[in-house]
Amino acid sequence: MEGNFGFIGLGAMGFPMAENIRRKMSSSKTMYVYDVYRPSCERFVNELGGIGPIEIVGSVKDVTENSSVVISIVPSAEDVRKVFLDGKEGAIAARKDAERLFLECSTIDAQTTRDVGETLTKAGSGSYIDTPVSGGVPGAAAGTLSFLIGHTDPTDSDPMSKTLATVLAMMGEPKKFFYCGKLGAGLAAKISNNYLSCTTLLAVAEAMAIGIRSGIDKDLLYRVIHNSTGQSWMCDNVMPVPGVVPHVPSSNGYKLGFKSQMMIKDTTLGIDAGHATGIRPVMAEAAVETFKKAAEDPRCIDRDGSSVYLYITDTKDEDWK
Ligand code: NAD
Repeated sequence: MEGNFGFIGLGAMGFPMAENIRRKMSSSKTMYVYDVYRPSCERFVNELGGIGPIEIVGSVKDVTENSSVVISIVPSAEDVRKVFLDGKEGAIAARKDAERLFLECSTIDAQTTRDVGETLTKAGSGSYIDTPVSGGVPGAAAGTLSFLIGHTDPTDSDPMSKTLATVLAMMGEPKKFFYCGKLGAGLAAKISNNYLSCTTLLAVAEAMAIGIRSGIDKDLLYRVIHNSTGQSWMCDNVMPVPGVVPHVPSSNGYKLGFKSQMMIKDTTLGIDAGHATGIRPVMAEAAVETFKKAAEDPRCIDRDGSSVYLYITDTKDEDWK
């Protein structure tokens, strides 16, 4: 891929995704980076500056001005509106270029992404596509993310779709790319997936806690569930009980991961989507109450969401660290 890249949001996910782009893009082209937390940009330059030019700029406008592809992965819908639609510093304030491609990897509601996409297109700023991701920080680091894409399958008659597929393949595995048809549809699929992953994580934490307090050894209980009908991806890859599955956040100080505070956001997105479609979101409504309490608990703040286990079991730090 020729052309400069722009990257906005160098957090837990964005940093390794941007790293894959920098490693795979043309070494003579520049990557423009912006994060409201400047030290993340400085760390990015320190760690990857040897691979090719990276420039830290002071606004999304400056990123956009210089890039033919701009990737954003920031926490919330409010952040996304600011990134793209701020009249002074946002993408919309940059020089117009209808050929430019914006990829929205943040997990937000589908309506916001439709508003942002339609506004940017009308303004002639470029094409904006929702491309939310699945696979977590390990998938981002390995370049094996799954993408849920708010666009039709790539075709020769749609050159932008070819560029889109090429850029996504720099961060993910094409066999896990799902073209969902239209703007906002990638996020609609993502919200359903996260409805399940968030509620399942809490169910795993509660089931493990109940079994352990009933006197079953934690490793035995995990083996039972892993080989029985309760088995799930969350149980195997985000097991909330420390010391059961070695590679997961709970066995590594609840290292991120996916922040406790963000469990509220994704569960709420599912609740809102349920109400909007006439489906009563019973599971998510129950789960969000616990996630809200965990997000205020010092044992869980800024740790991986699986630390909800420490909240529900009232485990003291000295008992698991
Ligand atoms: P994070 O908090 O680690 O990173 C977000 C980054 O965005 C931070 O560096 C922050 O400083 C920056 N930021 C915030 N507002 C900004 C703005 N207005 N302009 C520029 N930068 C801004 O979060 P994360 O875990 O990387 O998640 C980011 C998004 O990806 C969220 O929407 C999340 O739901 C989604 N997501 C996360 C995971 C995961 O496992 N962490 C997986 C899939 C999707």
